[in-house]
Amino acid sequence: MSQAKRIVVIDDEEDILDFVSRVLTDGGYKVFTAKNAEDGIEVMKKEEIDLLLLDIMLPKIDGWEVIKIMKADEKMKKIPVAMLTARLDSHDKIIGLREGAVDYICKPFTADDLLSRVNDMFKYMEE
Ligand SMILES: [Mg+2]
Repeated sequence: MSQAKRIVVIDDEEDILDFVSRVLTDGGYKVFTAKNAEDGIEVMKKEEIDLLLLDIMLPKIDGWEVIKIMKADEKMKKIPVAMLTARLDSHDKIIGLREGAVDYICKPFTADDLLSRVNDMFKYMEE
């Protein structure tokens, strides 16, 4: 059996973190959660991670800043990033794509939305 893909989720809203964690764990993924950027970065430095789901609006260090920090790190810059966001104006989308986000998942999302988007991302990345 192939090893479960490993996903880090950074979101400051605990209910979203719990929901995403439960859905993706049930979907067969290994999930690491972090309530802030600092904790998420620590996990990504320590563990082998296949995907980051990243909230934009975070306290202190926001999602854009996290992407910048990741880009400057040899290990973290290889991790694909999908933004979890309620803010989906075209400006955010353009910045996100320019900064290297692979996808956007708009809040609110259902369990099915989330799981199929994540499954698709891995399918796409493996092609
Ligand atoms: Mg937030």
